[in-house]
Amino acid sequence: MQCRMGQAWYAQTYNTPWNLRMNTVPKPNEQLIIRMRDIRRHLHRHPELAFAEFATARFIAEQLKKMDIPCREQVGRTGIVAGIGSSAPDAPCVALRADMDALPITERTGLPFASETPGVMHACGHDGHVAMLLGAAALLKEKEGELPGRVLLIFQPAEEGDGGAQGMIDEGAIDTASMIFAGHIDRLYELGEIVVQPGLISAFTDEFSIEIRGPGGHGAKPQETSDCIVAAGQLITSLQGIVARETHPCSPAVITVGTIHGGTAANVIASEVVLTGTLRTTSPETRAACLDSLKRMTLAMEQLHRVTTAFTFVAGYPPVINDPVAARIATEVAAAIVGQDKVKGQPLPSLGGEDFSFFLQRIPGCLVRFGAKHTKLHDAPAHSPRFDFDEGVLATGARFLAQAALHALARLEERRDRARYKM
Ligand SMILES: [Zn+2]
Ligand SMILES: [Zn+2]
Repeated sequence: MQCRMGQAWYAQTYNTPWNLRMNTVPKPNEQLIIRMRDIRRHLHRHPELAFAEFATARFIAEQLKKMDIPCREQVGRTGIVAGIGSSAPDAPCVALRADMDALPITERTGLPFASETPGVMHACGHDGHVAMLLGAAALLKEKEGELPGRVLLIFQPAEEGDGGAQGMIDEGAIDTASMIFAGHIDRLYELGEIVVQPGLISAFTDEFSIEIRGPGGHGAKPQETSDCIVAAGQLITSLQGIVARETHPCSPAVITVGTIHGGTAANVIASEVVLTGTLRTTSPETRAACLDSLKRMTLAMEQLHRVTTAFTFVAGYPPVINDPVAARIATEVAAAIVGQDKVKGQPLPSLGGEDFSFFLQRIPGCLVRFGAKHTKLHDAPAHSPRFDFDEGVLATGARFLAQAALHALARLEERRDRARYKM
């Protein structure tokens, strides 16, 4: 199902004259592949959490300097913006983005280059994303004289929950760019596969917390108090009815209560329970409906269980919505690099989150997935302490990013010519 629909999208877009005019970047050579692997392993050894990517940013800046690529540091706190190609103010400009933060996880891969920082691990592949973008930088630098415009390299902090993209946008990181591309390593797909899908591919990722309070009391005397644990239990069960009975069945939604804290002893009726959870939706209407239901059911516990409640909602990332033109460019580039049969679609959106969506609220762009299924022992999902990926993906990713920038610049240049000469 997935493949067929993906290929349908591909077939619609591939047979165009665009790809015939593609100016190509060189394939990464052995030396560059080894350099990317070393960069990835260095970053993997020294992971840093959101907005604390100080050594990571310094390391990236040094790598850029070695390639004679100027960069601006501390953009959006720990981010970096570098530029290759023409700096003329009216030159077409395309941005490429890599995220660079790690996760608060204790690594258990046993890899020789495992994290040396206790409790912090690159378990989402962002170490690979940085290595790929630096690889793409090297490929583009070789073509700098022929670039029909400028390529911005965006090294972004804090993707894992703190929305580092927004700070970089606020500080002008993509002000001059007309299009943006990024890729995420994905172990669910085979090495060499690239997943491109226009439209919505990820979810709104909101969080909520619910506090339930009562007087508390003796475990043997329920008549003297109200019971926050019982109220919490009933509320959690009731919340499952929102997706099942209150939202449109064709509009995906997930409500997960991820934590529950309450109570101090077996013979004490708890005076406080705190729940936290995540709400995932793909449409603003379903999101608003779920939020109303969450509030209504929480409030209902007050009457039902003689408790007081407080509901807090924290808006998260908006969905990633890939622009159709950018997705078409990405599809053509992917097909040119890995071959038509290895370009896959993603007809069902993931209900995961990605703050690349903030960039896409500003300019059109496309986030793709790079297949990196591990053939060895470390076959564990992202965000797991055993996560690892096949490093063969670094060459694919670097080439794709560089080529996507080049192809998009050519398209933008063409569009500008058409406007200039009223073609
Ligand atoms: Zn992640
Ligand atoms: Zn990630």
